[in-house]
Amino acid sequence: MRLPRRGACVDSRVTTTLTCTHLNQIRDVSPRTPDGCEECLQTGSTWVHLRECLTCGHVGCCDSSPNRHATAHNRAVHHPLIKSFQPDESWGYCYPDDLFFEEAPALPA
Ligand SMILES: [Zn+2]
Ligand SMILES: [Zn+2]
Ligand SMILES: [Zn+2]
Repeated sequence: MRLPRRGACVDSRVTTTLTCTHLNQIRDVSPRTPDGCEECLQTGSTWVHLRECLTCGHVGCCDSSPNRHATAHNRAVHHPLIKSFQPDESWGYCYPDDLFFEEAPALPA
């Protein structure tokens, strides 16, 4: 785990968003396969929910799906952050920190 930068604010008001050290790996991505899980579309499999990788735009299926391609993507290429790809959900998740975000982190505007 990387140490916080020198001078970084570490007081008690810091929210969970600021304890994730992977926000610099977020890219301005768009979903590579907006129609569904990239691997499941290739194999003709099905999924329950979808997650989008914030580093490369990979769309994978959640851990309630038979193939768990979102987690498999993280294991394979170590992209740390995902967000929900469900239209009615906006949460995000960091795998290495095991951290949930109520609102998925995004690139600064
Ligand atoms: Zn993190
Ligand atoms: Zn899948
Ligand atoms: Zn990725």
